[in-house]
Amino acid sequence: MKVAEVELKNAEKVKNKLIEIAALNTEFLPKKEGERLYFPLLEDADVSLVKEIKIVEKDMPKKKKKIDILDEFSEFLTSKEIEDMPKSQEIVGDIMILEIPENLIGKEKKIAKTYLENNKNVKVVVKKSAIHSGQFRTRKVEVLAGENRKDTTHLESKIRLYLDLEKTYFSTRLGNERLRIAKLVSKGEKVLIMFSGSGPYPLILAKHSEAKKIIGIELNPDAHQFAIENRKKNKINEERVELINGDVKSEVPKLKDEFDRILMPLPKTSEEFLDVALPKIKKKGTIHIYAFLNEKDIEEESKRMVKLCKEIGFSMKLMNTVKCGQHAPYTFRVCFDLVKL
Ligand code: SAM
Repeated sequence: MKVAEVELKNAEKVKNKLIEIAALNTEFLPKKEGERLYFPLLEDADVSLVKEIKIVEKDMPKKKKKIDILDEFSEFLTSKEIEDMPKSQEIVGDIMILEIPENLIGKEKKIAKTYLENNKNVKVVVKKSAIHSGQFRTRKVEVLAGENRKDTTHLESKIRLYLDLEKTYFSTRLGNERLRIAKLVSKGEKVLIMFSGSGPYPLILAKHSEAKKIIGIELNPDAHQFAIENRKKNKINEERVELINGDVKSEVPKLKDEFDRILMPLPKTSEEFLDVALPKIKKKGTIHIYAFLNEKDIEEESKRMVKLCKEIGFSMKLMNTVKCGQHAPYTFRVCFDLVKL
């Protein structure tokens, strides 16, 4: 193909001129060889006014075409239907969890296949066939495209988490929140993680903080088993991160330790467990308690939470209110950081 050869020292100036006269062939990439740079040119480009170049014939590397998923969808979805599609889909490990509006259910297999074909890291596309429910906060998913499996290994903040989407709760959307908490932990802290699931909080805290001891308690035996496996996979010391399979209500009172920090990531009902958490927090220690709240209720709820602690017999001060993700329109997952006075 027709190519402009230029000395490296003139490359930037020449590139700008070629762009100005619309002579660059943008389907190909420039190539460097020793002290020379080669720019791919359009066959009919008139470059007679660019003095610094020599025209040569050369094979040039083709630019990889960036696939725009919307272009792919436009082959079978109307513009209105494309507009209705969520702007991003959650990916856990190599499984994409498809969320599509009701009116596109008839086209879900085609949508799933399109995502699969255009994401080289995605091997399975599933859809949620029910929302998280029950005591274990699990949900059913249905495979729409790709390999027929629901288990995967997800990488979060240098921790590998192996899990099955139907057997345990897991959300990638909490990744930043887990790191936020890890950064608050001081050297030597003892941390209790209630409702620890497949182990993301205990393992991220172990990796990214200097906590001395971390205890995780989880009721769902499958989730607990994944947590045990994940602790091993990530070579985290069993004595530093202790994992207990049981009910927080009965397990916490049995613990001998008092903690510098207690996490309560069960947004719908965590306040029901404050009676066992509060007696175990050290003076000046922090409780991180989560709730799903409408924007307009957040301030009032924070006051109610402090009052509730007082009624149970403990003086807590609200140090921070953190919105850690949107749950539904106007509804947020909120964390109240409460410090014991
Ligand atoms: N922390 C995990 C995560 O971020 O992936 C799991 C959070 S999930 C919202 C809540 C977890 O609490 C579920 O795994 C559920 O099985 C567990 N759970 C519910 N009630 C419990 C209880 N009374 N004692 C211990 N775990 C409980």
